Amino acid sequence: MKIRKILHMDLDAFFCSVEELRNPSLKGKAFAVGGQPGTRGVISTASYAARKFGIHSAMPTGRALKLCPGLILVSSFHSEYAEMSKKVMQIVGDFSPLVEILSIDEAFLDVSDLPDTPLQIARHLQSRINRETQLPCSIGGATNMLVAKIANDYGKHLHKDPTPPNAITIVEPGTEASFLAPLPIDALWGVGPKTAERMTTLHIHTIGDLAKRSMDEMIRLFGQSGCDLLERAKGIDTREIQVEHEAKSISQETTFDNDTADEEYLLKTIRRLSANVGTQLRKQEITAKTIRIKIRWASFETHTRQLALTYPTDRDSVITAAAIDLFHKIWSKGKKVRLIGVGAAQFTREAIQLNLLEKTDDREERLLRSVDELRERFGKQILIRGFDLPEVKNNHTL
Ligand SMILES: [Mg+2]
Repeated sequence: MKIRKILHMDLDAFFCSVEELRNPSLKGKAFAVGGQPGTRGVISTASYAARKFGIHSAMPTGRALKLCPGLILVSSFHSEYAEMSKKVMQIVGDFSPLVEILSIDEAFLDVSDLPDTPLQIARHLQSRINRETQLPCSIGGATNMLVAKIANDYGKHLHKDPTPPNAITIVEPGTEASFLAPLPIDALWGVGPKTAERMTTLHIHTIGDLAKRSMDEMIRLFGQSGCDLLERAKGIDTREIQVEHEAKSISQETTFDNDTADEEYLLKTIRRLSANVGTQLRKQEITAKTIRIKIRWASFETHTRQLALTYPTDRDSVITAAAIDLFHKIWSKGKKVRLIGVGAAQFTREAIQLNLLEKTDDREERLLRSVDELRERFGKQILIRGFDLPEVKNNHTL
C-alpha cells in the first residue's frame, strides 16, 4: 500500500494575527478578539502574550479581564478574516486538490502525489503562507489525518514563547503509535471529558495505555466506539480527505417543445446533456461515481434511474454511455418523452485509476480539454449546434 502524506494546517491565533496586521501596535501585546466587557461576551481568540495569563478562546470576557486587567479587547472584524482565510486556502489548494477545510483557519491536505518529503512540503507551504499573507501558521504531517492533527497540536504546545509558534511537526511513517503513546488519553479524538474519566478508572492515562488493551475488552467496555478508540490509539486512521463541494449533484435537463418518441433525437439530447455534465465536472475538477437519468413522460409521470460506476469519472463518453444504458432500461419504443435529464453525484477528486487505459485516456482528456476551452470562449451553444461532440471510443467499464 502506498504511504500517504497528510498535512494539517492551522493558522496561529488567526483572528489576532489579522488584527495585528490591521494595527501593528498590537504586536506582542496581551490582547484578545472578542466580546466587550459588561456584555455577556466571550473571548474568541487570545494573542499569545494574553495566553501567558491563562486566557483562552471561549473564556468569558469578565474572567479574562480579572486574569489580565491590562488586556486589550479588540472587536472582531469578520469580513477581513473571511478574506484572509480565502487567501490562505487558495495557497493550500495550490499544493493539492485534496483539501478538507475544517474551519476558517484549519485544513487537511493530502500531498501523497508530491515527490518531496512531508517536511519539505510543510516548509514550502508554511513559507508561502507566511510570505504571501503575513500570517503565522503551524503544520503537522503524518501518514493519516488523526496523527497529523495531533502532531500539529503537540508541536504548537511545545512552543513556550509568547509569540506565534509557526511550528512544523512531522511524524515519520511507522512511528505513529510510539509518537502517540506518551500523550494524555484526552489528546485522542473521540475522548471527551466523560470518556477520559472512565479511562482513568480503568488505569488508562496515556494513549499508550489504551493501545495495550485488547480489542475484546474495549468492545465489551465501550461498544463499537471502543474498537475505533483502540485503532486510533495505535495510530491507525484510514479515512480519506473529504473534499467539499457546493453542489451535491450536477444535472442538466431539457424540456422538449413537443413531446417526442424519436429515438435518435432522444439519444442526441442525452449526449448533449451528458457532455454538459462532463464539462461542469471538469470545471470543478471533480469526478462522479453515480450517473442518473430522469425522464418525464407526456403524462407528466417522472422516472429517475441511477447507476454506480466502477471508477469515478469526468469523461463525457462514460457519462453518455451510462446515461444511454439507463435510458434504454426505462424507455420503450414509441413512448413519448416530455423532459429528459442527465445528472452526476457522489463526487470525489479521485483520479481515474485505469492505468491500462492511460493512453486512450490521455487522448480523450486532451480532446475534452480543448472542447471545454472552445465552449468557454464561444459559449456552449455554438459548439453544440455547430457539430455534436465527437464520439470517443468508450474504453471504460461501467
Ligand atoms: Mg488556529
